[in-house]
Amino acid sequence: MHEERPAERLDFIRQIVADDVATGKPVVTRFPPEPNGFLHIGHAKAICLDFGIAREFGGRCHLRFDDTNPLKEEQRYIDGIKEDLRWLGFDWGEHEYHASAYFDQLYAWAQTLIRSGKAYVCDLSAAEMRDRRGTLTAPGVESPHRNRPIEESLDLFERMKKGEFPDGARTLRAKIDMASPNLNLRDPVMYRILHATHPRTGDAWCIYPTYDWAHGQSDSIEGITHSLCTLEFEDHRPLYDWFLEQLGVHRPRQIEFARLNIERTIVTKRKLLTLVEGGHVRGWDDPRMPTLRGLRRRGCPPEAIVEFCAGVGITKFNSRTDPVLLENAVRAQLNRAAPRVMGVVDPLKVVIENFPEDATETFEAVNNPEDPSAGTRTVPFSRELWIEREDFMEDAPKKFFRLAPGREVRLRSAYFVTCVGVEKDASGNVTELRCTYDPATRGGDSPDGRKVKGTLHWVSARHALDAEVRLYEPLFTKANPEDVEAGEEFLVNLNPESERIVAGAKVEPSLAGARPGDRFQFERIGYFCVDPDATPERLVFNRTATLRETAKKAVEAGQG
Ligand code: ATP
Ligand code: MG
Repeated sequence: MHEERPAERLDFIRQIVADDVATGKPVVTRFPPEPNGFLHIGHAKAICLDFGIAREFGGRCHLRFDDTNPLKEEQRYIDGIKEDLRWLGFDWGEHEYHASAYFDQLYAWAQTLIRSGKAYVCDLSAAEMRDRRGTLTAPGVESPHRNRPIEESLDLFERMKKGEFPDGARTLRAKIDMASPNLNLRDPVMYRILHATHPRTGDAWCIYPTYDWAHGQSDSIEGITHSLCTLEFEDHRPLYDWFLEQLGVHRPRQIEFARLNIERTIVTKRKLLTLVEGGHVRGWDDPRMPTLRGLRRRGCPPEAIVEFCAGVGITKFNSRTDPVLLENAVRAQLNRAAPRVMGVVDPLKVVIENFPEDATETFEAVNNPEDPSAGTRTVPFSRELWIEREDFMEDAPKKFFRLAPGREVRLRSAYFVTCVGVEKDASGNVTELRCTYDPATRGGDSPDGRKVKGTLHWVSARHALDAEVRLYEPLFTKANPEDVEAGEEFLVNLNPESERIVAGAKVEPSLAGARPGDRFQFERIGYFCVDPDATPERLVFNRTATLRETAKKAVEAGQG
């Protein structure tokens, strides 16, 4: 039955599907993005569910573009969605569909409903309709056109299609029940007039179906068995079922689950578009964005996103997930896969006084202790080195196991060094450390059992490559970015420190051939990914994640 994870408890949707499969039913799911923006991590949750269930139960999953609103939809989004899906590791084979391909069928079905007295053309404006809609406690008011003759509605509907009326002049509405406690059943709109060019159908249509009218019927046409969507569609399910019942066609089962929300970020295309258009980020693929292209640029491996989605689970309860769960999945993945290198983000010069001026030694460094097949590389060592500024302290407490005057540390893979002097500028800033090395400790091993507590990363100054490093923090300061005072909008919660650009980093020369998208662990610092802004002259790295979970309380306190 359920092939991939038989031992695990199934979530409630997989349980329903498993029960259906047991009675011999096939499994056909769909992922139905509207191409009005790029995919975000919330979509990844739906994708993993839709494609995952199809894969696990021997069915298939369709990719269907829900392209019914030409005002917001663009071809570049269609292309981008496909690119992002493939990157995540999902394949829809030949099953790419577009709701717009069903416009003729939807139109014919709408005529069927008019003929059977279940739909009518209404001349009310959007505002007039809203005024008559009623509330949760008060019934709505019937449209004056509700009972116009069927022939008149058929004629007007045809003329709507022919383009005889301006935008918004008329709609086609289902004739259900203006007193229904479910507002979605109060004669919902099926078609609106919109003289707009569609990315696929061009100017063939000037009336477009609403989501409610297009979605269920598209599911039915494609023979979808389980139509999985988020909880906000729960109240639409009676309408979904009503249309299919009136038409007497194949009836998929709609099942709702909770959306993914992540603390300190937003996952709604509309608001992400606001960030892009307002210049609050550098684009849809800004490494701070929760979009799949943002996460890709940030350096998140797709496998980590899939693992994260599996971990958050499928329930009926809306909640907000801690971003640390995603980071942990990223760290686990990169710990296995990312080659180690040495890079210094905030460099401090070290001069090894007893090392010859022009000499260079080389050391073999292990590329990935988690993966012996990753091999080794050569790292050059010379008299002048860079170390991390925070790895030195002049008045160091006892427990500071890094460099301080008179203290000895190991330089990873190289030698033990002891700090013998400190140079400062006029205002007292440390500009250079003077050290000596012990030639007997070559390779970083102690010959006499002498112990040092600290091991530092370093880069040979003469061989170092310059790099820009971009450090990222969450986009918003509040767990729920929508938590605002009356009259404010979510933008007030933007984190002004979500990006910090460090220009003067120094990295080891083996990185000379690194290409955009390559991922590395900078030893002792974190995981980094080469940004597409990198040039042969200047490397640019995005910090994907720190090595460990940063103390959250401290971070939050620091950002007030
Ligand atoms: P948005 O608010 O970002 O525009 P949407 O639901 O309008 O989201 P669609 O392109 O219509 O975006 O979504 C395609 C599918 O992805 C739908 O089935 C939708 O339910 C699902 N989906 C969208 N956002 C989330 C989310 N945050 N968590 C889980 N599933 C989601
Ligand atoms: Mg939608």
